Amino acid sequence: MSKKVFDCIILGAGPAGLSCALYAIRSGLKTAIIDVSAIGGTPANYCEIENYLGFGKIQGYELCERFENHIDEFEVEKFPYEEIQSIDLISEDKKIITLNGEFSAKTVIIAVGAKNKKLNVKGENDFIGRGVSYCAVCDGAFYKDKIVAVVGGGNSALEEAIYLTQHAKKVYLIHRRDSFRADKIIQDKLYSNKKIELVLNSTVDEILGDNKVNSVVVKSVNSDKKSKIKIDGIFPYIGLEPNIEQFGAQLKLDESGFIITDEFMKTNIDGVYAIGDVRKTPLRQVITAVSDGAIAGVEASKYLMNLKERVVRK
Ligand code: NAP
Repeated sequence: MSKKVFDCIILGAGPAGLSCALYAIRSGLKTAIIDVSAIGGTPANYCEIENYLGFGKIQGYELCERFENHIDEFEVEKFPYEEIQSIDLISEDKKIITLNGEFSAKTVIIAVGAKNKKLNVKGENDFIGRGVSYCAVCDGAFYKDKIVAVVGGGNSALEEAIYLTQHAKKVYLIHRRDSFRADKIIQDKLYSNKKIELVLNSTVDEILGDNKVNSVVVKSVNSDKKSKIKIDGIFPYIGLEPNIEQFGAQLKLDESGFIITDEFMKTNIDGVYAIGDVRKTPLRQVITAVSDGAIAGVEASKYLMNLKERVVRK
């Protein structure tokens, strides 16, 4: 089994991880970035980003590509598509075992992000890939001139509903209340889009189909009355849950499972930091993720400097 030793290992190659890599390598740390999938993270699947300062409107994949190109100017070692077997964060020399070997470092930065929550209704799991999708950018084109539903009332649901009108002939937006938590600017775009029909004060009760989705049953929260809407596809965007399955037990989490850090991105374990969507934070944006990354990169370097000083003093 191959063994690779670094000063700093970053788990997760989204905006937070890539930003952290930049700051860590520029602080002189031998840095690796490991991801279970491609470099770029979730925003690579966003349709359009228009609130990343300095870029106006930019496609999610293009912004992530620019981030990656930037770190490619330095000697960050990238390990995409690694299948992680186990993680030991507690020891001073932290270890990540993947199918390809062992990675070790005195600092680990957790930047693994969060995934879309499931509706947990009948039919949802049965039709994943056959009409149930959690990625409008990846699957939207399959719904050209078809009818789809989006569920949720946050920025993701509204943005993706608007995006889907580029493909679908009609988009139902199903939301459990009659007001949205999405930014006002996005709400304004939604209200002016003629292809979107709002289904408010309603929850999804069941997703129906034969070999693929053909309808959704919605239930009114006011009357419990159920009604069936014919659709070809459904995109739940009802919030996020952190990807902490592999190390949650070692870390202090909040009640929703997000990692608790201080303002220096430090977790409860020395040498371990959490950044971006996976940590407890008041705002989950690309701009806040890259800011977290910068702080953690610098803090990891300070931590290692203190460790070395301790060794010299002994
Ligand atoms: P979110 O802001 O947490 O919104 C989740 C939405 O789903 C809410 O409207 C919520 O309803 C609804 N919901 C939650 N559980 C539900 C359930 N079981 N059944 C039906 N509806 C349910 O999640 P998000 O939109 O995925 O955004 C996540 C984070 O990323 C946020 O911080 C967001 O601002 C950020 N983000 C930002 C941008 C941007 O700035 N361009 C784009 C995408 C995401 P209630 O409103 O009734 O609670």
